[in-house]
Amino acid sequence: MYKIDLMSDNKNKTTLVLGAGVIGVTTAYYLARAGLDVTVVDRQDAPGMETSFANGGQIAASHAEPWATPSALGNIIKWLGRTDAPLKFRLKADPVLWNWCIRFLVNCTAGRVSQNIERTLRVALYSRASLIALRAEIGIEYDQRTDGVLHFYGQTKDYDRACKHAETMRGHGFEQQLLSGGECVSTEPALVHALDTGQLAGGILASDDESGDAHAFTKALAGHAADLGVKFRYGCDIERLLTSSGAVTGVELGDGEVLLADATVLALGSYSPLLLRPLGIHLPIYPAKGYSVTLPIIDANLAPKTSLTENERKLVYSRLGSRLRIAGTAEIAGYNTDIDTERTAIMLKAAAELLPGACDLTDPDPWAGLRAKTPDSVPVLGMTPIKSLYLNTGHGTLGWTMSCGSGRAIADLVSGRTPDIDLNGLAMDRF
Ligand SMILES: Cc1cc2nc3c(=O)[nH]c(=O)nc-3n(C[C@H](O)[C@H](O)[C@H](O)COP(=O)(O)OP(=O)(O)OC[C@H]3O[C@@H](n4cnc5c(N)ncnc54)[C@H](O)[C@@H]3O)c2cc1C
Repeated sequence: MYKIDLMSDNKNKTTLVLGAGVIGVTTAYYLARAGLDVTVVDRQDAPGMETSFANGGQIAASHAEPWATPSALGNIIKWLGRTDAPLKFRLKADPVLWNWCIRFLVNCTAGRVSQNIERTLRVALYSRASLIALRAEIGIEYDQRTDGVLHFYGQTKDYDRACKHAETMRGHGFEQQLLSGGECVSTEPALVHALDTGQLAGGILASDDESGDAHAFTKALAGHAADLGVKFRYGCDIERLLTSSGAVTGVELGDGEVLLADATVLALGSYSPLLLRPLGIHLPIYPAKGYSVTLPIIDANLAPKTSLTENERKLVYSRLGSRLRIAGTAEIAGYNTDIDTERTAIMLKAAAELLPGACDLTDPDPWAGLRAKTPDSVPVLGMTPIKSLYLNTGHGTLGWTMSCGSGRAIADLVSGRTPDIDLNGLAMDRF
């Protein structure tokens, strides 16, 4: 075993960021900007290779509704046994999963929903503003689009329910436009086939939401971070967190190498709880597997420019340059990223039914990733009971949406500044 003491050659505060997904990389970038000496550690050979690789692409504060709602249990039961169910539970004898499920049920009350929407919106709106500022500062390119996100509904009863939810969101200061089917087509002409074939009863437009390729962003930002002096250690399995006198002092890697630092930020997505357990911290984060397919666009006029969310199948559609990304579905089934072609077939069928002729359906690029899901759908940001250890994890379905804001807030916290947003209710002490 040999040691690299990250503290020895720099009088600035040294920080380890564990994980080079979109959350770890944004954290590292903002830490470096604050003048800290930063090292990012990841087991992959490049940034953004796991859950940040091929997500739905939406920067969507409009998705702030948590999974745990008063109607969640009814929906889960309704979807049982359906191969095209948007959310599938594969229950097994795993106490961690059962504990997570109990906490999920506790969050299904109207009061909790309102609280969790406020907490998510707090991070998501700050994050969107931070992303816009970052884009202006460094001119980062990632197939971004700023046409908003249009949520559309095939059934009038679902649209009516969504209009009520839009009222709740308005109560939290988040404005959206209610659109008829015809107005949806005026906003996004590619929906004309959906309207003509009875797949479009109405829509809700979040015009300030955005979209873009999270992987391209993560790669590009890692480059900017490296220019600021951030060191990236790829191909390194983090074996355990090291502690001394009640503080985390660094990590031990799989080959026995030890990295020491003044502060450590854990940004390992779904894998975050695994490193915390030996320290007696039981973080309720469970992986929720999701899928995407990326398709080449063959007729640019038939493919949507506005990022879309289809309520019926719970799928999102984002145009990324000359490609269309369709993503969604969720399986609570443990740490498994195998691609089930039955699930990706749902997306190809959706593309054929909704946007015929837009994409080459014979050339799909399928992918599966694990969302780090908390039972309340709110990320875990802030300090831990263990000195020098910070969390930036548990972003679930909205890690890309919340990345810049989470990274910036945690970088402020680590560097001794007061974050621009209140972290109350976001830290792990809420569990
Ligand atoms: C199908 C799907 C669609 C989605 N769509 C959207 C969307 O439209 N908008 C949105 O905002 N979000 C979306 N998300 C969620 C978003 O992709 C995630 O929240 C986000 O990518 C999480 O980033 P992360 O950095 O926390 O995790 P990751 O990207 O998974 O990064 C964690 C890193 O930790 C590393 N790691 C883990 N354990 C170890 C270890 N022991 N040693 C070394 N390295 C380790 C991994 O290699 C990985 O690089 C979607 C997710 C899925 C699955």
